[in-house]
Amino acid sequence: MLYRDFALVLGKILFNTHCSKFNELIYLNMINPKYKRIEELGWNPVLLRRAKVLVVGAGALGNEALKNLALLGVGHIWVADMDIIEDHNLTRSVLFRAEDIGKPKAEAAAHRIKEINPDVKVYPITKTVQETMGLGFFFQVQVVFGCVDNVQTRLDLNRYCLQAGTLFIDAGIRKLDGDVKIFGKPYAVCFDCMVTNTMRLEAWQRHSCLKLRSHTNPDSVSTAPTIASIMAGLQVQLGVKYLHKQPIVIGKRFAVLGYIDQMHVTKMHRNHACPTHAQYEPIPKNQLIPLNLSSTDNTLADLLTEVKNIMGKNAVIQLDYDLVTHYTCLQHNYQTQLYRRRGTIFADEVQCPLCKQEQQPNAHLLMQEHFINQISGNEQPQLLQKKLNQIGLPYYHIVTGFTCTDKQFQYNYFLINNDKKIFTSY
Ligand SMILES: [Zn+2]
Ligand SMILES: [Zn+2]
Repeated sequence: MLYRDFALVLGKILFNTHCSKFNELIYLNMINPKYKRIEELGWNPVLLRRAKVLVVGAGALGNEALKNLALLGVGHIWVADMDIIEDHNLTRSVLFRAEDIGKPKAEAAAHRIKEINPDVKVYPITKTVQETMGLGFFFQVQVVFGCVDNVQTRLDLNRYCLQAGTLFIDAGIRKLDGDVKIFGKPYAVCFDCMVTNTMRLEAWQRHSCLKLRSHTNPDSVSTAPTIASIMAGLQVQLGVKYLHKQPIVIGKRFAVLGYIDQMHVTKMHRNHACPTHAQYEPIPKNQLIPLNLSSTDNTLADLLTEVKNIMGKNAVIQLDYDLVTHYTCLQHNYQTQLYRRRGTIFADEVQCPLCKQEQQPNAHLLMQEHFINQISGNEQPQLLQKKLNQIGLPYYHIVTGFTCTDKQFQYNYFLINNDKKIFTSY
């Protein structure tokens, strides 16, 4: 017994010293009996320890997905959620306790899954995915678990996963019902193929009609912790099978109808009017051009210089989001200048002081939005001198440069390579 304890401690030290494959094998397969049962399932603890996954949303579904990933010893887990724990979360979230109320969900969940399994590395992100995690990050993870309650985030995750060729397992729950959809290479069908017009209208549910953010969340639908367990359990099981290259049903939807106790598996079909499929395509990894730039140290002008050096002086940068430059009050002509990603601005940030003085109801509806999504070099110097992370570019992003000569378009994909350390420095 003493010998085994000593061997376990030694194995753990070797395991934590950025270990070689050999050390990992000693600890996981030969000394630590913890993973024995997982091995007996035909799964590989070393492979799981090396896996990198992203869980978006740390609510009812996210809690269950994270718990399962930690139990299985999935080694690197990023968890993103911008919300704070409220008392009603306690009846649906296995990882939260009463003393966690008021804490960021992502941080509390990260803390708790380290307790479940200290072997896993977990990286909490408390801002929106759109503002923090660039497309380059999606090339680094193997599976993305969608555990969110809004369509817009799902659409953004879907698009990044399609471009990076990363498996996207999305779950949704509503009262006692739930579904899991699996999207992966070659992305013959994507989440956006399934989005109806009504869902598209709801996509900006967290925003007002001007795509301005509101401080209060819309009423969320009640969900049972039981259906969250079922759907997140399925999500993680499929993800772990995929990590082991075991066949999974890509392009299918599992639905559980909790009120009538029925389950269905259906094939999803490509929508030929799908906006994501029309606009984006997978980017081969070998076509990425890494630039020696970082979002925190370099400006938009620095990026443009690099792009023009490679593609010629007529090259422009095509942003994959709308960059709001200013708002104008249609009544008073008052201008609020700001350089921010569309959809991240709160209504009270763009108030016209004269409308405020006059106590104008719905003053934000009088504000006209101005935005751009191409940068050619002819923009205002104060914009070009902004650091990349000050104009809404997420970290480790991939920016498209394009030129048009003799009606021929040429595209290149540029990776902001020095940001990589932000995701690996934990
Ligand atoms: Zn599609
Ligand atoms: Zn005004």
